[in-house]
Amino acid sequence: MNEENTVFHKIIRREIPANIVFEDERVIAFRDIQPVSSTHILIVPKKTIRSLDAVTGDDSELIGHIVCIAAELARSEGVSESGYRLVANTGERAGQSVFQLHFHLLGGRPFAWPPG
Ligand code: AMP
Repeated sequence: MNEENTVFHKIIRREIPANIVFEDERVIAFRDIQPVSSTHILIVPKKTIRSLDAVTGDDSELIGHIVCIAAELARSEGVSESGYRLVANTGERAGQSVFQLHFHLLGGRPFAWPPG
């Protein structure tokens, strides 16, 4: 697939709908279509980056910005005290299915460790 034509690019371009909870010039965040917990938000950079494995030093501010947005969303979702996870599945073997970098913000229930 064209690197700039993932389902998340289509959401960024408003070609398909999404339940958007945050957006600025660099980042969009929307609710996962198949949530695995009561809070399940995907935080996605608008810059095309295939996965965490493709991140470079040039992206350090962007990644820091995403982590700050995640913490802010966790607070606004009311899960910061009960606990949450920020997860970037990286590569098919780790469960990545959409090849545009994204972070899952998961909260609202207990999570086991180690992950499955
Ligand atoms: P991953 O498997 O880590 O690449 O995560 C991709 C996530 O994108 C999955 O949790 C999917 O449920 C989610 N997803 C796929 N299509 C959409 C969509 N149109 N809107 C919202 N979430 C989606």
